Amino acid sequence: MESENFDVIVIGSGMGGLTAASLCAQLVDKRVLVLERHFKLGGFTHTFDRAGYEWDVGIHYVGEMAPGAMPRAFFDLVTGGEIKWNPLPDPLEKFVYPGFTFDVPVGESRYKQALVHRFPAEANALDGYFVDVNRVARWSGLFFMGGMMPPVLRSFLNRLDWGTKRLALSPTADVLCRRFNNPELISLLCSQWGDYGLPPSQSAFLIHAVIVNHYLEGGYYPAGGAGVIAESVRPLVERSGGAFLVNHEVTAVIVEKGRARGVRAVERRGAKTLEKEFLAATVISDAGATTTYSRLLSRVYAEDARRDLNSLPSPTAHVCLHVGFKDDPGKLGFHGENHWIYNSLDHEEIFRLRNELLEGRPMACFLSFPSMKGGVRGHTAEIISFLDYEPFRLWRDKPWKHRGDDYEDLKERISRALIDFVDQRYPGFSALVDFRELSTPLTTEYFTGHPHGAAYGLPAVPERFQMRWTGPGTPVKGLYLAGADAACVGVVGAMMGGVSAAGLVMGWRGLWRLFHAVGKRVKAAATGFRG
Ligand SMILES: Cc1cc2nc3c(=O)[nH]c(=O)nc-3n(C[C@H](O)[C@H](O)[C@H](O)COP(=O)(O)OP(=O)(O)OC[C@H]3O[C@@H](n4cnc5c(N)ncnc54)[C@H](O)[C@@H]3O)c2cc1C
Repeated sequence: MESENFDVIVIGSGMGGLTAASLCAQLVDKRVLVLERHFKLGGFTHTFDRAGYEWDVGIHYVGEMAPGAMPRAFFDLVTGGEIKWNPLPDPLEKFVYPGFTFDVPVGESRYKQALVHRFPAEANALDGYFVDVNRVARWSGLFFMGGMMPPVLRSFLNRLDWGTKRLALSPTADVLCRRFNNPELISLLCSQWGDYGLPPSQSAFLIHAVIVNHYLEGGYYPAGGAGVIAESVRPLVERSGGAFLVNHEVTAVIVEKGRARGVRAVERRGAKTLEKEFLAATVISDAGATTTYSRLLSRVYAEDARRDLNSLPSPTAHVCLHVGFKDDPGKLGFHGENHWIYNSLDHEEIFRLRNELLEGRPMACFLSFPSMKGGVRGHTAEIISFLDYEPFRLWRDKPWKHRGDDYEDLKERISRALIDFVDQRYPGFSALVDFRELSTPLTTEYFTGHPHGAAYGLPAVPERFQMRWTGPGTPVKGLYLAGADAACVGVVGAMMGGVSAAGLVMGWRGLWRLFHAVGKRVKAAATGFRG
């Protein structure tokens, strides 16, 4: 058993873990150790390659990355300002339904105008809708940052705006049905539900508003692909004596008298495993709330959390077909925008029938082109669709790449169905395909350790946002949660989860330190100075 001391240990190198590690190293000079179970850093921000093609895993577009925007300032702080963000084309997205396609232009007023043009009778309701979206998105910023405020201040702020809180924690469908008469408009406005993985009847309006607001002024993509995020954080952490260890899976958080003391981990070296112990007074888990409470903490500290988290619906799982093209997909008229393709306007039905994909009948998919955004190698696309984890359980204990012919047959059926689904809308797509590989919920579970291959962390139902387990604080002193489960889904959501965890590590001056550092970045962006 090896043992080594650090100031802070971060479990997992996803966006939340990288953020917490970077801020603790840069702002309070902590010696941070990041332990990652995968052989590559980055969590859902890592990239991989096959046959000369390269793909992202969990970034297709990130909003609010224009210079001067607050999330961009935080991102620059975390990554040392090294990342160049390429804007996606305008229109940003296409909502593709049977018989019509709606282009989503960049800019709130242009988006609203396009909607009013199609639904003139709903013009006033649309005004009100955008007011609600902005109001709830603004409120969510305070709500998520509230996790690092003293409880008295947090509960005061919570009480300050009851009306917005009630709106934010209502189901999306209720809010939209109250406001609009036209069901087609309601469906259109919900077209991005794939960004958080739940249909309007189940999702909290909070997450709907956060995502819609996030992309109103366009989408951005990191030049060179998502892998540049971990690459840019690494030297910032190492400069303060920190280290990154891949192939290290944390098996337990060591707790003594209610205080975190470190972690136990296993290192995988080929077929061999080596048990290790790392000590630190602070542990930050980016492994997700479910893993942290149900696998890493003992029952004494986690019983209530486990009970509450188990009461949430099953997390959303997905398949992703990674496609390599023989030639530039621009020849078919694509420009690098995203396509949400649905075979009906009824999102509830689409969600209910998502497992039809197993029989080769997709209900919906998301189509995106990593290579057209100035990123990864080769001409590439990704086609994503949702389904349940359960049908895949059969092969769960079989080794990666050796799960058997029946598993490969299923993957082939799904892959073909997804290509045909896209080809029906965009003829010529199928003929352009040179290489394809499907990831399943088992792939996600195998590489990230997220139980049931959860793509987006805890489901974004209203109840989730009212649980005390889903902020950065935990019942164990010195143990914090980072990442999407500490705030909300998305690269920026996970980053804010990491910001909150780092803020708590910094103590009562944490909030001030963070905003001071980020304020300097905003000022620098305004004057064009790179400090
Ligand atoms: C298919 C897909 C598409 C997406 N598209 C977008 C998009 O376009 N834009 C956007 O903003 N967001 C997108 N997202 C969401 C976004 O990628 C995630 O919300 C975010 O990256 C999550 O970051 P995280 O730090 O919370 O967790 P993760 O990225 O999941 O990182 C957790 C890390 O912890 C490691 N880990 C787990 N357990 C242990 C352990 N016991 N020991 C050591 N390490 C451990 C895992 O291996 C992993 O590296 C997408 C997600 C998916 C799945």
